[in-house]
Amino acid sequence: MINLKDLQLQEVEKLIKELGEPKFRAKQVFGWLYRDSTEGPGGVTDFDQMTNVPKVLRKKLKEQASLGILAPLQVQVSKLDGTRKYLFGLEDGNAIESVFMKYKYGNSICVSSQAGCRMGCRFCASGMDGLRRNLTPGEIIGQLLAAERDTGEKINHVVVMGTGEPFDNYENLSSFLRLLHAPEGLNLSYRNITVSTCGIVPGIKDFGVDFPQVNLAISLHAPNDEIRSSMMPVSRAYPMDQLLDACREYTKKTSRRITFEYTLVKGVNDQPHHGEELAEKLRGMLCHVNLIPLNTVKESGLHTTERKDAEHFRDLLETKGIPATIRRELGDDIDGACGQLRLANCRKCRKE
Ligand code: SAH
Repeated sequence: MINLKDLQLQEVEKLIKELGEPKFRAKQVFGWLYRDSTEGPGGVTDFDQMTNVPKVLRKKLKEQASLGILAPLQVQVSKLDGTRKYLFGLEDGNAIESVFMKYKYGNSICVSSQAGCRMGCRFCASGMDGLRRNLTPGEIIGQLLAAERDTGEKINHVVVMGTGEPFDNYENLSSFLRLLHAPEGLNLSYRNITVSTCGIVPGIKDFGVDFPQVNLAISLHAPNDEIRSSMMPVSRAYPMDQLLDACREYTKKTSRRITFEYTLVKGVNDQPHHGEELAEKLRGMLCHVNLIPLNTVKESGLHTTERKDAEHFRDLLETKGIPATIRRELGDDIDGACGQLRLANCRKCRKE
């Protein structure tokens, strides 16, 4: 079975032609996958809801293709701010997480790009069981659509910051971004999308060329290679000099500000001299530092920086001319660290 949500409009056109139907039907079918149906936002959940598509074509499609609907296995809802954390089950038994968040400027979803991850960052729950497999474009966009259906609300911002390393699944990530942007579908502006990478240098280079309007975030987390390598094995393949050079090249080419994510870990990377070293490395760059209080993952043995120390770190960066903010934590009451819902679920599956 083909998942129709894995296909760009041109590929749907090809399929429709192969089914012996006129090309213009493809736009109708494609629209139904992503746009509001009588049931609300999130696309149709049944071929028979495609009311302007002839019955014969619906039947032919049903035989060959699926709508790639993701079913939530679990939804945790924050009573504080409406954040919703989803665990979705995939066809092959894998599970993935997504988070829906409400902001003043609209609704946002954080999607996963892989089932598991092979980057092995020490503080991160998502990689603790390694990589299972890449997600297809349809499985990535399916997370957004399922959240739209569940909430009955449109989503207008997307961050690729869930489980997985997006640049380790570059081709499917690219197709996903194109699907989000397709005028016949969701028609989302590239400027409303942010992709976060742990620092895969060739990916950053390609991304600056292929998607100059999409926002880029880099998980930096350390002021030097020594500390970075102790937290993130990827740093051994792509040392900081190479990484920051690629970032400078990116900002020069795209004129877009890069966000550096910096997870504060008590005693590891949060001391004033770390802040000074970081400011020195980032001096003159078109960037912003987003300080993230560590979400404690008990397997890691690492601890969160206290609020006053985080504020001190921020102020230090600011006085050195590096714009910095501390990330506001949404859904505090439902928060295990990112990826923990899935990890717990994987372990449960394994025991059963
Ligand atoms: N692989 C990509 C995107 C997924 S992780 C990347 O590395 O950027 C999204 C962000 O959450 C990254 O900045 C990651 O380092 C951070 N993160 C992971 N585990 C965390 C934890 N326990 N506490 C705080 N931030 C965490």
